[in-house]
Amino acid sequence: MEENIRKEEIPGRSLNFIEEIIEEDLLTGKNDSRVHTRFPPEPNGYLHIGHAKSICLNFGIGKKYNGKTNLRFDDTNPVKEDIEYVDSIKEDVKWLGFDWEDREFYASDYFEQLYDFALVLIRKGKAYVCDMSAEEISEIRGTPTRPGKESPYRNRTVEKNIDLFTRMRTGEFPDGAKVLRAKIDMASPNMHMRDPVIYRIIHTSHHRTGDKWCIYPMYDFAHGQSDSIEKITHSICTLEFEVHRPLYDWLIEEIGIYAPRQIEFARLNLSYTVMSKRKLLELVQEKKVNGWDDPRMPTICGLRRRGFTSESIRNFADIIGVAKRDNVIDISLLEFCVREDLNRKAFRVMGVLNPLKVILDNYPEDLVEEMEATNNPEDTSAGSRKVPFAKELYIEQEDFMENPPNKFFRLAPGREVRLRSGYIIKYESVIKDPVNGQILEVHCTYDPATKSGMPESNRKVKGTLHWVSVKHAIKAEIRLYDRLFVVENPDNSEDGKTYKDYLNPNSLEVKTGYIEPSVENSVAGQKFQFERLGYFSVDYDSTPESLVFNCVVPLKDSWTKKEKAK
Ligand code: ATP
Ligand code: MG
Repeated sequence: MEENIRKEEIPGRSLNFIEEIIEEDLLTGKNDSRVHTRFPPEPNGYLHIGHAKSICLNFGIGKKYNGKTNLRFDDTNPVKEDIEYVDSIKEDVKWLGFDWEDREFYASDYFEQLYDFALVLIRKGKAYVCDMSAEEISEIRGTPTRPGKESPYRNRTVEKNIDLFTRMRTGEFPDGAKVLRAKIDMASPNMHMRDPVIYRIIHTSHHRTGDKWCIYPMYDFAHGQSDSIEKITHSICTLEFEVHRPLYDWLIEEIGIYAPRQIEFARLNLSYTVMSKRKLLELVQEKKVNGWDDPRMPTICGLRRRGFTSESIRNFADIIGVAKRDNVIDISLLEFCVREDLNRKAFRVMGVLNPLKVILDNYPEDLVEEMEATNNPEDTSAGSRKVPFAKELYIEQEDFMENPPNKFFRLAPGREVRLRSGYIIKYESVIKDPVNGQILEVHCTYDPATKSGMPESNRKVKGTLHWVSVKHAIKAEIRLYDRLFVVENPDNSEDGKTYKDYLNPNSLEVKTGYIEPSVENSVAGQKFQFERLGYFSVDYDSTPESLVFNCVVPLKDSWTKKEKAK
């Protein structure tokens, strides 16, 4: 009965397998019916859309079950981590719309407690100090089908181990001279159970603990124990940690502390991009892109700068669901989500990216009419604006053809088209460059009886074009983006190539556009639909004197068309 009530409360979709586990636990009263999750990033880079999936999942579950979600920095490797990354991660989680309240935690805050846990293991004879180098350890580790050999240091006495581990902490030994290993089973079919290293010596300052520590716990030792300290009920992580789960459970059991349950789901992979912080860092360091927030990057800050909304990313995370098997999601699904969101929110404006001058021969020389244009047909409360109309206009070069095919319904000799929120105009003549034959101007006449919005303007023509008045248009820098990589899976490299060999050399195109004057005072992050073209967002580089727009996404999925044409 209770189960039915809960399931009915959730409109729309059925439960994913993680929610099923949680609801089962709630029913049986496990963990006193608490739900407590965490998002545990390592501050060694900026977050990407895959992390966004994990954030939405963890915080979403916290919210849905009236539980809590911690933000925990897994800061156990001082060599790669930095406060810059901590700050960016907090900004990104907030921007995505989630709140960790007062629960901002750091694995480094638990170093003392983790050290004590290690001593618990040593005293139980379940951990030992090993003097072998990393190479030696890996040499005798065996393979999944061949058992490993035991370390010659494996049978040190408890006293000796405590002495050595204490001296490791006080800084007596150089990096790599010794490690602490869990004493489990060198013949285990699970390689992670073959006496894994749980502490190592690194004489490097930590961004939070400074020089207090020179031994640092390994991920496997810090992660599960941190979950336990925070009384996390469901520790949700990605599939690659499935093989770590026996170690996760073993450590908690042997130390004898509260046991969270680790649940794995498939990580998000997106086509035409890479999704590892290490690779994204390389792209930044080697200047293949202009920083972490380059609008071509799959980072959260890159998507934000490009003009993606947090709502569209949350919606995307929801639509793709939670899978148990690895898969690749088509990037066009993400683009679909932002299109759908901006269609509802973005004001329409007219802007011309490839200008062709149109002169209306019968329009009075100095007349300027303020044409009424709807801001958003999807949202009547958005109202309307005035767009100046004059004798000289720009339309897109693509909207005129001298010798058009039959199905071309735009401007051409003998044809009429409507200018959106303007008049119906009719072709008269062209003026060409006498040297290269390039079309310089198209001369037309307008029909004064067809002014948009007037009752007599109902005459129908097949094509409607966007336009701007030449003397009123604002010049702006327009950045158009294509996919960062030219192949669907850049990680899947052949012939000694790396993902970097598949970078798209034409992923950024910069143009000068002519935009209607209503965009004049727009500010960074403001979004528009340029009619018939796509969604555009004002870039951070924009100033009132020189506006810069990023194309978030074209109106139609032009890439799919391109692919089909191949
Ligand atoms: P990367 O491999 O990109 O460097 P990571 O797993 O090392 O990522 P962490 O900072 O350790 O990055 O990840 C924080 C959390 O985000 C982890 O719980 C991790 O499982 C999750 N996560 C990372 N990448 C993805 C992804 N592509 N899809 C879903 N969740 C992810
Ligand atoms: Mg990681």
